[in-house]
Amino acid sequence: MINQHDKARILIVDDEKMNLKVLADLLKDDYAPILAISGEQALHHAFGDSPPDLVLLDVVMPQMGGYEVIKNLKNNDKTKNIPVIFVTALSSVEDEEYGLKLGAVDYITKPYSPPIIKIRIRNHLRLVHQYKLLDQLAYLDGLTEIPNRRRFDMVLETEWARSVRNNTPFSLAMVDVDFFKQYNDHYGHAMGDLTLQKIAKALKRGLNRPGDFVARYGGEEFVIVLPETDAAAAQVVAERLRQNVVDCNIPHQYSQVAKHVSVSIGLVTIMNTDHTTTRQSETILKTADQNLYLAKENGRNQMVSSLIRQ
Ligand code: GH3
Ligand code: MG
Ligand code: MG
Repeated sequence: MINQHDKARILIVDDEKMNLKVLADLLKDDYAPILAISGEQALHHAFGDSPPDLVLLDVVMPQMGGYEVIKNLKNNDKTKNIPVIFVTALSSVEDEEYGLKLGAVDYITKPYSPPIIKIRIRNHLRLVHQYKLLDQLAYLDGLTEIPNRRRFDMVLETEWARSVRNNTPFSLAMVDVDFFKQYNDHYGHAMGDLTLQKIAKALKRGLNRPGDFVARYGGEEFVIVLPETDAAAAQVVAERLRQNVVDCNIPHQYSQVAKHVSVSIGLVTIMNTDHTTTRQSETILKTADQNLYLAKENGRNQMVSSLIRQ
């Protein structure tokens, strides 16, 4: 997430201590400067746990120069989107062209004007902020504002891989609204949309652990990922989610199973006992879907679960 209140971190790279100090003094009121006296040190910071939001990079430095630094940054998925601005005494058109070709967003020649360098930094940081917002929107469902299917696909892959690696249990639930076609037909599509929003909130409310995850899978279907959750615990969560929806008390006169909107849930828990397993995440999804089908068959407004040991 983007934190508006934290100062943006700007990595300043220059082999001249004096240059570092001048830039740091210029920026320290608005930003959090991080200083690197060599290309190697710059990469160490950039690849570390809290990478910078922007890099000001000198070109000519002993050992690793600025061109080498930017090549390394652009070659790494973690750092390739961090904007790099060259700040250099090399002022020929060829130098500037080469720097920009390597992926720098800007090229500033020394001596620079302090107010202009500040404005350029601000502009580039604003762009990054907007890209990040767009990126987050791309993974949210527009109607319910919970994560969408695309995000779910990513979470499923990472969490499943983690649970296989660590030999931890893994649970997944598919949730489907009961008689929702009838609901739409009688109350209208706009009311249907509103109800889906309420259901999304009710499901979200039922999840407590930080790793628990709910997404809109599509239409009137939702999917829940419960990492490190065994069968008994997952059943408690799934039952709570089902009850949360019932407790919303959304009238549904045309449901054949209750007077209110309800959901059916297909749950599956995998107990990993062998980290060499090759079971694919699609299999888990398929099993959850089969259980959902059984929950529908058995009369809806209920949960069906199964346990796989591998
Ligand atoms: P079942 O109990 O077997 O799940 O029956 P159902 O009627 O819920 O299942 P069916 O798959 O026949 O119908 C799903 C309905 O969900 C059809 C569609 O109109 C509605 N639906 C899907 N997406 C949306 C949406 O974004 N908004 C609204 N309002 N309705 C939607
Ligand atoms: Mg459905
Ligand atoms: Mg349905």
